[in-house]
Order: sequence, then C-alpha cells, then structure tokens
Amino acid sequence: MTLKELTVAYFQYYAIQAYLLLAAVSIAYVVWNPPSLLAGVAAAAFTVLAYPMIWYLLHRYVLHSQWMYKSPLTAKVWKRIHYDHHQDPNHLEVLFGALYTTLPTIAISVIPVGWLIGGPGAAAVAFATGLLVTAAYEYFHCIQHLSYKPKHPWLVNMKKRHMEHHFHDENGNFGITSFWPDRLFGSYYERDERPAKSATVFNLGYTEEVAKSFPWVSRMSGGVAKGHPRKRAANQNEKPRQDAA
Ligand SMILES: [Zn+2]
Ligand SMILES: [Zn+2]
Ligand SMILES: [Zn+2]
Repeated sequence: MTLKELTVAYFQYYAIQAYLLLAAVSIAYVVWNPPSLLAGVAAAAFTVLAYPMIWYLLHRYVLHSQWMYKSPLTAKVWKRIHYDHHQDPNHLEVLFGALYTTLPTIAISVIPVGWLIGGPGAAAVAFATGLLVTAAYEYFHCIQHLSYKPKHPWLVNMKKRHMEHHFHDENGNFGITSFWPDRLFGSYYERDERPAKSATVFNLGYTEEVAKSFPWVSRMSGGVAKGHPRKRAANQNEKPRQDAA
C-alpha cells in the first residue's frame, strides 16, 4: 500500500468525515463568536498537550482494564473498541474508533476546560482542536497498521512501538504518536528490554477460562480465538470461526 492509497482509504471512512465536518462547524462558530486571542491559543494548546495523557489513561485503564467484559452492558462496547482490534490488528473495519465512544469522550475531556479558559468561543476552539487531533491520531494509527513502510525515523519508531504493543507485550507502549506519558509512568519499552512475549497479547486476558465466568464477548465473537491472527486466518477453512465484521 502506498501513502496515497492509505490516505484515500482514510478519508473514505465515515468517522474521519464526521470529525472533519464537526471541526468545520466548531470553527465556523469560533469565527461567529470569537474568544480573545490569548484564550483561543490557550484552549488549543491545552487540548494538544493534554490529549496524549487522556488517550494514555483511557487506553491503559479503560481499554486494557479487566472490567469491561465483565458486564453485558460494557462487553459489546469493549469488543468493538478494543478487543476486536487486538484480535485482528490490521482489520480496517475495527481499526478506527467508534463515533459513539470517541465524540462524547472528546467533548467531556476538552469542552469544560475550554469554557473555563474563555467561555463558549474558547470551548469551541478546544472541541475543534480535539476533533482534529483525533483525526490525526487515526491517520498515524493507519500508518502503524496498514502495509506502508515509513522512512522518517519518527514514524519508524512510532510504528515499531505500536507493533510491540500489538504483537509482543500489550502492557506497555500505550501511546500512538507521543510516548511521554509511557515514559512518565514507566510503560515505555523496546522489544529487547522485555525478552518474554505476553501470552495475552491478542486476547487481552480474555481467555477461555475467563469466558466461562463472563461469556458475553465470547458469544458475540463465536468463541474465544487462540493464537496469532495470521495463523488463525490460515486455519479458517479447517476450523470455521465467525468474523463479526
Ligand atoms: Zn491496546
Ligand atoms: Zn493499533
Ligand atoms: Zn470483516
């Protein structure tokens, strides 16, 4: 896949179009009801700086928590927004976040602070910035998963770290573009520093044993899948497994 093909696939995805459309609406609101320059810059800066930390905390303590599959109320969301992505990391349909989870999260994380900084105009600046940063995150996440080989060292490192999160040890490298929260909390690693591969890197701890007590994700997925996604795909003819997508 070339970068151009990747970019075309990216812009065709409805969630990306929704982020850009909502960002345009928010920017139109800012033009109509502008905050002071200082408040606007502060609201945008807050969003850009806080975003990696917000993503880190959500990824580590919500998406990789062991509570979401324990209730039928959250099992379906967890399966859609993270379990399926770790089960089949290069599957495009579950590569992007789901709007019904991302939009409220962005709004709650940045609008109140924006409002405190400079009223509704600054809140709209913060929201627009949050949407654009999310769209950028999704773009880099595409680069990490689709078969495109980056040359820029910054991109090469980013892709390596995320591949380790998916294929070596899921308990680390939670960042997408920024790894300063990983470094701060000590979860940043390079493969050599952790010789052992995590046994739960594809199932996130949702094993057959766990599924006996909390069956909802397994029921929705047609059983608990085992092994490497690529080998699973190769075995699909012998052992049929339902693909939810
Ligand atoms: Zn993850
Ligand atoms: Zn990923
Ligand atoms: Zn599919």
